[in-house]
Amino acid sequence: MKIAFLGLGIMGRPMAANLAKAGNEVTVWNRTSGKDVPGAKKASTPAEAAEGADVVWMCVADTKAVEQVLFGANGVEQVLRPGVIVVDSSTILPTASKEFANRVRGKGADFVDAPITGSKIGAEQGTLVFIVGGSDESVKKLEPLFAVMGKQFIRVGEQGLGEAAKIGMNLMIALIYEGFAEALTLTTKLGVPREKLVELVQASMIRSGVTDYKAPFVLKKDYSPNFPLRLMHKDIHLMLDAAKAAGVRLPGLEKVEEVYAESVKAGWKDLDFAATVGVIEKMSGLS
Ligand code: NAP
Repeated sequence: MKIAFLGLGIMGRPMAANLAKAGNEVTVWNRTSGKDVPGAKKASTPAEAAEGADVVWMCVADTKAVEQVLFGANGVEQVLRPGVIVVDSSTILPTASKEFANRVRGKGADFVDAPITGSKIGAEQGTLVFIVGGSDESVKKLEPLFAVMGKQFIRVGEQGLGEAAKIGMNLMIALIYEGFAEALTLTTKLGVPREKLVELVQASMIRSGVTDYKAPFVLKKDYSPNFPLRLMHKDIHLMLDAAKAAGVRLPGLEKVEEVYAESVKAGWKDLDFAATVGVIEKMSGLS
């Protein structure tokens, strides 16, 4: 297939590379220059990349970025035509995703929201899980591309519902990690060796994908970004905004947001979100 891939960050770059490796004709664009993808052509605007493409795939930071790439100066909108499928793997506000879908469909093209889970390693190894909202017909056409970049896709329903399910999932990640961070801080203060707490967690029913992935990094205090704290903080605000609009209260998440705000104040926004344990440690008198 002829694919435009827009946004070459931690996730987008390896995703585009896997599409090119599989033999698709890929043209990439990134806001700032200097990022290449082996086997892909480079374009200087989103519209130039999307010209003549069957599928336009985006993976950019946030709601505003998606709006700019689609509808801003030299945006994808200029070259939309019937038959094109626009896919968004960024994590953004579900209501905005639905609105963007309507605008894209107004031009005769189709829109599928396909946010992702699996982090940097999943993007590199082609083992992402796509959380999909869109028409059955378009999702079927995308199946070979999901298969190249991921191990599974779950179609949740129509446009916007992929994003809705994704932020629900990230809500759990934020809370589970916070539980781990607080337990680790308390038990460290009580004298339990950190490795022993992790050994216990991993041997028990509270073991989770989150602790499998993050605990080894936390023990090494390696907070190099896989999922940057600034992006989880962005997602927490998406959850709180969506909850407010839906008349839902999320008291646990409201507290966790304060930890993220403190982490940003500490200058850790570009570290992995696992670095938030540092705020709990600091508040508890641990270095
Ligand atoms: P990232 O490394 O920070 O990359 C962000 C990308 O968005 C870059 O290509 C950046 O371009 C582009 N961008 C930012 N603002 C823009 C704007 N206004 N207009 C156009 N492009 C803009 O982020 P990432 O980790 O790849 O994440 C991308 C999306 O996937 C986010 O929505 C994130 O929440 C989601 N996600 C990430 C992970 C993860 O583990 N990292 C997992 C699941 C989902 P520049 O290079 O010019 O800055």
